[in-house]
Amino acid sequence: MAYIDPHIHMVSRTTDDYRRMALAGCVAITEPAFWAGYDRSSPQGFFDYFRLLTEYEPQRAAQFGIRHHTWLCINPKEAEDPVFAREVIELIPEFLEKPNVLGIGEIGLNKNSRNELEILEAHIDLAAKSGQMILVHTPHLEDKLKGTKLIMDAIESDGRVDPGRVLIDHVEEHTVRPVLDRGFWAGMTLYPDTKCTPQRAADIIEMHGTERLWINSAGDWGPSDPLAVPKCQQELRRRGHSQETIDTISFNNPSRFLGQSDRFSAEPLVPTA
Ligand SMILES: [Zn+2]
Repeated sequence: MAYIDPHIHMVSRTTDDYRRMALAGCVAITEPAFWAGYDRSSPQGFFDYFRLLTEYEPQRAAQFGIRHHTWLCINPKEAEDPVFAREVIELIPEFLEKPNVLGIGEIGLNKNSRNELEILEAHIDLAAKSGQMILVHTPHLEDKLKGTKLIMDAIESDGRVDPGRVLIDHVEEHTVRPVLDRGFWAGMTLYPDTKCTPQRAADIIEMHGTERLWINSAGDWGPSDPLAVPKCQQELRRRGHSQETIDTISFNNPSRFLGQSDRFSAEPLVPTA
C-alpha cells in the first residue's frame, strides 16, 4: 500500500534503503536539511549540502520510483554561532527556486539557547518574506515541552505565518495536544526503541485521532529505521484499525499538508533504473 515518509534524511541512507522503501510502498519522501553526521566547517559546506538535497538525491530516489522533496535551513544543532548561521541563511534564497524545495526546515531548537532562538527567528522571517511553508524540529530532551512552546510562540509572534502551513515534528504524548490546539500540524517520529515507537504512535492516534497528524521515520545517522512508517501501518492493522485510518495517517494527511505547495507530488513515478 502506498505511503509517504515526510521526514527522512536520505543523505545518511544507502541506495539499498531506497530499494527496500520502494518495495514497502514508499512513493514520496521529504528530506529536511539537518545535521549531516558532522559539523560543517564553512558555509560552503552547506552550499554543497543544498546542492546534494536539490540535485543529487532526487535522481537517486527516482531510480526506485520515489519522488524526493526537500526543505532548507541551517539546523539548530549547528546554529550556535549566529554569524556563521546568518551566512548560511544567505545562501538559501537561490535554492528556493529549485523544483523539489517545499519550504524552510527543519528549523527549531535543540538546547533552547538564546543563539538558537535568534537563528530560529531569522528562519521564520525568511519563510514569511518568501511565502514558504515551515517544518519544525523540537528538542529531544526533557525540556521538549518548553522548547515546543518557545517555537510556537516565536512563530505566532512573527504574525505573518499561517499555523496551517507549519508542521511541528517529533511530538510526543505531552506535546501533541498543545500543538494541534494552536492550529499547527503535528508529526510523530517513529524510532525503533527510544522516543516514539510505532506502538506509542498507535496509542497517540487512539487518544487524539488523526486530524492534522502524520507519522515519519526521521531515518538519520543514529539508530533509526527507514521502514518505520510501514511498520506503524502494520501495528495499526494488528490493532484492528480501518484501512481508512491507516491511509489517512500515512498518505492522505501528508499529501494534504505538503500539497499546499504545488511542487509536491505523490503521483506514481516510473523507476528510472
Ligand atoms: Zn530530522
